Amino acid sequence: MNFDRRGSVLNWMANIIAERFGHGFTLRENTNGTVALRLNENSQCITLAADNVSFTRMDSDLDYTEWDAVAEGWRYVLGSPLPAPGVKSLPSPLITTTAQGMHIAYDILGLMYWMLCRLEEVGRTDLAEHGWFSAKSSHAFKHGYLERPVVDEWLHILGQVIQCVWPSIELKQHQFSMKVSHDVDSPSLYAFKSWGSVVRMMVGHLLKRHDIRLFLQAPYTKLASCSRIHPTDPFNTFDWIMDQSERHGTISAFYFICGHSDPLDADYELEDTRIRHLLRHIHARGHEIGLHPSYGAYQKPDVIRQEADRLRFVCAEEGIQQNQWGGRMHYLRWEQPTTLQALSDAGLNYDSTLGYADRPGFRCGTCFEYPAFNPVSQQILPLRVRPLVMMESSVIDDAFLGLGTGAMAFDKALALKNSCKSVNGCFTLLWHNSDLRSKQRKDMYVNLLG
Ligand SMILES: [Zn+2]
Repeated sequence: MNFDRRGSVLNWMANIIAERFGHGFTLRENTNGTVALRLNENSQCITLAADNVSFTRMDSDLDYTEWDAVAEGWRYVLGSPLPAPGVKSLPSPLITTTAQGMHIAYDILGLMYWMLCRLEEVGRTDLAEHGWFSAKSSHAFKHGYLERPVVDEWLHILGQVIQCVWPSIELKQHQFSMKVSHDVDSPSLYAFKSWGSVVRMMVGHLLKRHDIRLFLQAPYTKLASCSRIHPTDPFNTFDWIMDQSERHGTISAFYFICGHSDPLDADYELEDTRIRHLLRHIHARGHEIGLHPSYGAYQKPDVIRQEADRLRFVCAEEGIQQNQWGGRMHYLRWEQPTTLQALSDAGLNYDSTLGYADRPGFRCGTCFEYPAFNPVSQQILPLRVRPLVMMESSVIDDAFLGLGTGAMAFDKALALKNSCKSVNGCFTLLWHNSDLRSKQRKDMYVNLLG
């Protein structure tokens, strides 16, 4: 891999440092294998170890150790010791005073590059169903730190070192936030199904579930959903979701499927009167509309572009204007960096796919949004990555973590939210509109918002 810290990658790292700390530091690679971090042309500097071997690796077999920050007098936010991927061992003390400032003998910037650019996923062939790079294949899962925002934790250490070297500067204080989004795979249980399918579902309601109410409701809802999805439709939870978000002072983002490349795609067309009605309704209530690229789109830049154009076209027809357009890949399908580049080329402003389906946690090692960087072309992209911390089914469903909807599932989700809180980051939660059918699920969702 072509990698040096004199080019765009150094600018990208400097951008992230500036976003995080609110000051424009310059970064420069020294000949002695370190990177110097300076504030303007101030003579003081922080040097960091630069490991261009480990943190350019495109596999998950990097070394691993841990660092006891507290033993060396530093504060930690999420429990000591701190995971330290990429090295077998670290010197003690790790952080030392130098003539010009301080030195950190761990490559925090390299770790940031490796995690945020998902280097370990580039060119991987050991993929699970749906082409997933599974959580279980990741270095973070193997070493037990998937549920820690390890990049944010290390940047917190860097922030402390910056304050030691430049005690008079004030670092940017971030506020914890929560973002909820909803992939609209199925806006309706009945409206877009054929009568044959509805009858089959009715038979299931009667014979399997012995639920006469659902049995009678199915044909009624289907008949009543001519111009809009009827409120009795079990998947029509849109108003309920928006009510909850408004109550908690947040907005919901709803991502719509705009193409059919596979049977696993949606059964609706974006141009359908009922979907247009829904789009207008969401927009009128002040919530966000985004793109959910179809199942086969993740390796096809042209398809992603067509689908993004289709969404923007229909929204324009409906008078829907937004400052930004973002979304998430259907089934969280992702090929790094093909998908990243394609989303950027399609003119999207952000993407929120990067979490694992099979486990919740910090796939990118961070819960902060950041500018995307293509590690193959070595280019900074205008797209922003908004990592996904948790999809509801990753925690609930038997196919994944399988914790159900009881206390264990809620505690797991709450622990993830609290980890984001500890670093003043953003807890991003995906909850499908079609996955709020039971009281338990609704309760869990509402309690997580609170
Ligand atoms: Zn989906």
